[in-house]
Amino acid sequence: MPLSLMTLSVVASPVTLQEGLKILQRDDHRCQYCGLDGRASFENALVMRVDFVLPRARKGKKDPGNLVACCIPCNTIKGTRVYANFDEAKAFVLKQREELRKNWESKTARPFARSAKA
Ligand SMILES: [Zn+2]
Repeated sequence: MPLSLMTLSVVASPVTLQEGLKILQRDDHRCQYCGLDGRASFENALVMRVDFVLPRARKGKKDPGNLVACCIPCNTIKGTRVYANFDEAKAFVLKQREELRKNWESKTARPFARSAKA
């Protein structure tokens, strides 16, 4: 995948770097599913991608109306399922994220809060 050293954004092929950057700029470098700010840190910038709302695997077009800025976790969760529209896809992704979070929290309960005295 092409990496732009200017923006530190990796753009998923087959969207060209130029096309991807236009989408990221239009969406203010924020994941349109979870809201992650790709400009907040280097680590965030590294996980930004451009998502095909209707997946390429389902003949989704490379059209700005079908492309959104997206972080890798949301892109992975969304997968190649077909949704009625973006809002349905977003609702699915956010619901899955919440379930994953609860699962993670149940397995990583910390007996002690982090503090300087640890
Ligand atoms: Zn996201």
